[in-house]
Amino acid sequence: MNSSNQTSPFQLGKTDAQLEDFTDSYILFQETTRRYREAYEELAAKFESLTLKLEETNVHLQQSLEEKDRVSNYLNNILESLSGGVLVVDLDGAITFFNQEAEDITGFEQQKVLGQPYAEIIGLNAGRELSVLHTLDTGERLASREKELRQGDGCTIPLGFSTSLVRDEDGTVLGALEVFNDLTEVKRLEAEVQRVQTLAALGEMAATVAHEIRNPLGGIAGYAGMLERDLDSDDPNRRLVQKITEGVGRLNRIVVSLLNYTRPLRLNVHPVNLVELVEETTAFFAIDIERSREDIHIERRFPDGDLICRIDPEQLQQVILNLLQNAMQAMPEGGTIEVGLRTEGELGVLTIGDTGVGMDDEVREKLFTPFFTTKEDGTGLGLVTSKKIIDAHNGQILVDSEPGRGTQFSISLPQ
Ligand code: ADP
Ligand code: MG
Repeated sequence: MNSSNQTSPFQLGKTDAQLEDFTDSYILFQETTRRYREAYEELAAKFESLTLKLEETNVHLQQSLEEKDRVSNYLNNILESLSGGVLVVDLDGAITFFNQEAEDITGFEQQKVLGQPYAEIIGLNAGRELSVLHTLDTGERLASREKELRQGDGCTIPLGFSTSLVRDEDGTVLGALEVFNDLTEVKRLEAEVQRVQTLAALGEMAATVAHEIRNPLGGIAGYAGMLERDLDSDDPNRRLVQKITEGVGRLNRIVVSLLNYTRPLRLNVHPVNLVELVEETTAFFAIDIERSREDIHIERRFPDGDLICRIDPEQLQQVILNLLQNAMQAMPEGGTIEVGLRTEGELGVLTIGDTGVGMDDEVREKLFTPFFTTKEDGTGLGLVTSKKIIDAHNGQILVDSEPGRGTQFSISLPQ
């Protein structure tokens, strides 16, 4: 018996052809379903692998972002802690980075300069060719150049700087960078070295000349003395001989102070009560000028107790006498010399003030230059010698003066 003749729901009212169609459809359906399932599974597998890849990529991305952050933080930290000013500008010349040191050197606040045009903030008073904008324009690096910078407060300082382009890893220009340093201190040291070298050369020459002069000077003094003795007391030539002796005396004083100044200082330091030393020296000076300068009054302002400093008393005495003498000479019409002593922190401070002619800026600037004098018979060596002595004590000598009102010198010495 044919299976198709068996009772089945499909047979009810259906022809054979219809049944065949149906069977074909069913097979097709099953086939399609299978293909769909396969496709689905394949897709699911693909999806899973894609998801995995995506996750992997995400992790990579995250890592690379973190790495970038780390590197960028690291770079920022380096730039921030560089002992130099660093600024970066973008292609438009606007400032995009400005480290703490840049703020300290230029006096412009980081917050206020970021995003602002370089040309407006830093300015181009030294010329565009000496700025990071030149590098931006031409690509040319500037290495170890110098220029003047106008700071936020309007003061000008010498600046050492270098520039270069900033590129990304593909070589595309992102902007330009300027690294700079304040050269004020360097310039000051250069000038000081120059001054010391000049002084050393001058000192050597002066010492030689002084020695050469000393011997004939001794001879002249000796012969003039003999001549004076040979002349009668009423001989008019005696006046001339006395003039010679006076002149020789003055020359000798100059030579002595020159030798004093150029001779290397050898300090003999020990603890000394400054109150005693200054009092003694002032008293000695007061007696010396008592009769010749009755128009000068000396005031003392000393502390009650002792003020002990480690010094060379003989050398310091010479300094005090130099300053007292200058003070006296600054008061041709008379006045008051005030000698003061006080403790200031770790320092002993000695002040010598006068109510004399004072000095203008020009004199004040040249005060400590050898041979600078405004006096007809001055040597211009008193203050340089004094400064040399105070320097050797690791002390400091300062001056405060106003034309027509007077001058105050103050000397601070470590206790
Ligand atoms: P000198 O006394 O031989 O001129 P110094 O080195 O002692 O040399 O002083 C240099 C110059 O400084 C003086 O010629 C004077 O112009 C100025 N000076 C020094 N002390 C005073 C003072 N107390 N008041 C005004 N000017 C002073
Ligand atoms: Mg003098």
